Amino acid sequence: MAEFELKYTPQAEVQSIYDTLQRSFRKGVARPLGYRKHQLYRLARLLKENKEAILAAEHADLGKPAQECLVGEIGAMMDRSIKSAESLEEWSKPQNVEVPEWQKTWSPKVFSIPKGVVLIISPWNYPTTLSLQPLIGAIAAGCPAVLKPSEISSHHSALLAELIPKYLDPEAYAVVNGGIEETTRVLEFKWDHIFYTGNGRVARIIAAAAAKHLTPCNLELGGKSPVVIDPDSCDLKIAAKRILCGKTTNAGQICVCPDYVLIPRHAQDAFISALREAHDSFYPPSSGSPLDSPSFGSIINKVQYERLKDMKRRTKAELVLGGGEDEARRRFEPSVWRDVREGDSLLEMEIFGPFLPIVPVEDINEAIEYINDHPSPLVLYSFTTDPKVKQALLERTRSGNLVFNDVVQQLSVNELPFSGIGESGYGYQIMKYTYEAFSHLRASIDIPYAYEPFLAARYAPYTKEKTSIIAVASEMEVPESEWPVRGGEERKANGSANGNSH
Ligand code: NAD
Repeated sequence: MAEFELKYTPQAEVQSIYDTLQRSFRKGVARPLGYRKHQLYRLARLLKENKEAILAAEHADLGKPAQECLVGEIGAMMDRSIKSAESLEEWSKPQNVEVPEWQKTWSPKVFSIPKGVVLIISPWNYPTTLSLQPLIGAIAAGCPAVLKPSEISSHHSALLAELIPKYLDPEAYAVVNGGIEETTRVLEFKWDHIFYTGNGRVARIIAAAAAKHLTPCNLELGGKSPVVIDPDSCDLKIAAKRILCGKTTNAGQICVCPDYVLIPRHAQDAFISALREAHDSFYPPSSGSPLDSPSFGSIINKVQYERLKDMKRRTKAELVLGGGEDEARRRFEPSVWRDVREGDSLLEMEIFGPFLPIVPVEDINEAIEYINDHPSPLVLYSFTTDPKVKQALLERTRSGNLVFNDVVQQLSVNELPFSGIGESGYGYQIMKYTYEAFSHLRASIDIPYAYEPFLAARYAPYTKEKTSIIAVASEMEVPESEWPVRGGEERKANGSANGNSH
């Protein structure tokens, strides 16, 4: 694995990269649509021609099974590079807007322009996807970009540093490698957008550094994504299978991993039986422990392994499945605990490992209360086919995504926006939404000189006659409206202003 040795980028080189990218932006190097398309196809080619090296790097970092990496990372990013290239013309074309008759001659338009030179900071758990997905958006939007991958997935970050300059134009795209100290220095530069994916603690550091330069950010974070099970209207066996699959993919190290289950108490035992059945079909007992299964990955490093071990050691809940571990290979068996109570170690923080706590509740209402008592999750999952339950979850909770009857699959839909809310972050991504994150909507009008007579009233001196012409703008009718207030009585709302102001 010597070719994957991670070297941190010296500070002088970072300065020179920054200067080069700034110059390129001013010269408009990355702006022509043909150039952007070419770079996106080159990125897809990078993935295609280096599949084996990427699989090897992800295996070295995470023990990630090839199947998971081929579908969720290499294939998905090739698809998104190519589809973004093909959608570019549509996304970037100036938009005409509908305006009142009197503004029609003003050519009102919205131009989508690149924000400038951008910084992408990515984490270790899906190093291909989480580095290249924002990079695809930056290229598509016409922004030169610096990618700072995670030092924790060191083999993969070393590989990116080798491949990106070979495939993409070094005048516009560069990889900078480093740890906290180096990243802190990179954050001192003035960027035109920062796209950070990682945890909420570091996100606050990123946002504070960005604020110094008024730099806008995407903060793509994680958190505890609950699964609400409605046993009266779902197929428990399929639910158990899908949840366990999400919990064991990448050994549970996914931002959208189903973190814990909320289920009516009376159905807990039946769900545990279904989980056992799913577990034994994934990892047949005759083949030994899941710790030895080639369909199961490792925990990224000792720090994360020890964090999970400590969580497991401190739980007061009853273990009902798994529990084994292998320190040398940093692996835990998929493990399930029942009757987990508030305050338990398994509910303290995002698990980010193959542990599943089951939290019994009385009913769906109590599940909703529980969710609302905690920070807004990245995803709310629910296994239910009852339209009333779906509606209640939609209307009475908040989360980045709302997914029914499966887990993780929302990430495969290219057309949906992906983002957190509250503690799970902000800023939308995936395909068009990533393009938009790196683009500025530049509103434009062009008022013909022939329009001059219609503007006469705005010029000083303000006479009574001119004021009476202008005053028409504030003389519109405000519709009567009614809304029942708490307590049942009707309240008339007719005092609100309905004009334009700046
Ligand atoms: P990490 O430790 O690799 O950190 C992410 C990046 O932040 C790295 O590039 C790292 O160098 C940089 N960094 C770390 N400390 C820093 C500091 N003090 N100052 C500046 N930069 C610093 O990854 P992580 O944070 O452990 O990633 C896991 C988290 O990311 C989980 O919470 C997960 O849910 C979340 N995540 C979110 C998404 C999403 O799209 N919403 C995707 C994947 C992961």
